[in-house]
Amino acid sequence: MTYKGSCHCGKVAFEVEGEIDSALACNCSICRRRGSLLWFVPRDKLRLQGREEDAATYLFNRHVIRHRFCPACGIHTWGEAIHPKTGQPTAAINIRCLDGVDLGKVPVHHFDGASL
Ligand SMILES: [Zn+2]
Repeated sequence: MTYKGSCHCGKVAFEVEGEIDSALACNCSICRRRGSLLWFVPRDKLRLQGREEDAATYLFNRHVIRHRFCPACGIHTWGEAIHPKTGQPTAAINIRCLDGVDLGKVPVHHFDGASL
């Protein structure tokens, strides 16, 4: 299935291919503040509809995860990193930004990122 997603103002828009089996809620310093629900897909399943540079990038800690967000409305749309186990480029999609997803029906796993 192809999902359409965007930030709030629409400057950052994208499509992502796959089946949402579950989402992850993390309690690390950034996730607990922004409240994203993350769905992990291979990076090549994420296609930007606009220009790459329309999505800003925030780095912190070890700078291994590229947190992408809209510089106009501030909404976090996805993160990008090399998956530590598979070595593959991976995107963590914020499913709160996707159209047509019934968030109440997606199983949410809680991840203790604060303890890493
Ligand atoms: Zn925006």
